[in-house]
Amino acid sequence: MKALLIEQHETLSASIQDIDASRLPSGDVTVDIHWSTLNYKDARAITGKGKIIRQFPMIPGIDFSGVVHHSEDPRFHVGQHVLLTGWGVGETHWGGLAEQAKVSGDWLIPLPQGLSTRQTMIIGTAGFTAMLCVMALEQGGVMPESGDIAVTGASGGVGSTAITLLSQLGYSVVAISSKPDNKDYLLSLGAKEVLPVSDFNQPSRPLEKQRWAGVIDTVGGTVLATLLAQVNYNGTVAACGLASDSQLPTTVMPFILRNIRLQGVESVTVAASKRPAIWQRLQKLLPDSFYQQIANEITLHQVIEYANKLVNNQATGRTVVKIR
Ligand code: NDP
Repeated sequence: MKALLIEQHETLSASIQDIDASRLPSGDVTVDIHWSTLNYKDARAITGKGKIIRQFPMIPGIDFSGVVHHSEDPRFHVGQHVLLTGWGVGETHWGGLAEQAKVSGDWLIPLPQGLSTRQTMIIGTAGFTAMLCVMALEQGGVMPESGDIAVTGASGGVGSTAITLLSQLGYSVVAISSKPDNKDYLLSLGAKEVLPVSDFNQPSRPLEKQRWAGVIDTVGGTVLATLLAQVNYNGTVAACGLASDSQLPTTVMPFILRNIRLQGVESVTVAASKRPAIWQRLQKLLPDSFYQQIANEITLHQVIEYANKLVNNQATGRTVVKIR
């Protein structure tokens, strides 16, 4: 089977190789992969920009969808359509950028009704995470009538999907982006306004004028710190990413004087029992137009080139990889 293999000798190298399927790791379900994707984490793993992979050789790819090829798990049968996101696949267990994967049945979910294998990967880990961020705002009591919601890293996979979901739910969304050329794209997803990230990436005062009922942040660093200082009394910030910086140079002031909540969002180990309902919500909320607007399709042979584009902030939307 063809796979993207990352090896670590003196330096890290990534190449497409023919691998005997008998080398696949242990697992009770073997899946013929149809679609995988390029997430920020995959791009950092493939380019070596992030210490994502701990065991070599590794097939990256933190998500995939496809058809069951062989199953020793009674919950899955040959020919069944399935998808996987997270669980350390593509990090500690061979992942989705290959023609086959062998995984635990506990990590797979049957394809949600109403979605194709391609659509589930246009959503992928990024879209699943965007839904978790929206749910974090809801759990914080942020409602469509509460006020404006800021979304950072707006052009990316999480950002683009979060804008679409929020707009479909009736929220007023302000996209914050480093790419002026993407203004029309972000407005077409449902943002009412697009602001340059340069308005937010300078150190701010501990408290600034209140302007956001909620924030979905994918970039971290000074941008997140500035937004925390601008969140309304009782507001909620859902933080899931570090595309700009993993540091957070903030103070306690917005927390103790404005009662705001900073909610972390993690998608990798969300309980299997909770996942089908989250996917059903994504299926219901995302309009058909979303899949056309956001998806760029590439082949396995283009993955390394696109991984470099992604880590250099030259990509927009979701990059889906057609495996077969
Ligand atoms: P993408 O690469 O698709 O998008 C990231 C976006 O962030 C870019 O499109 C760009 O948007 C912006 N950006 C990139 N570099 C910088 C920079 N140096 N400074 C400021 N903005 C920048 O990534 P994803 O959407 O897939 O992921 C976004 C983040 O969320 C990543 O950090 C990822 O690791 C994290 N993540 C976390 C998950 C979790 O479980 N917690 C799951 C999935 C993702 P623009 O040009 O519009 O500003």
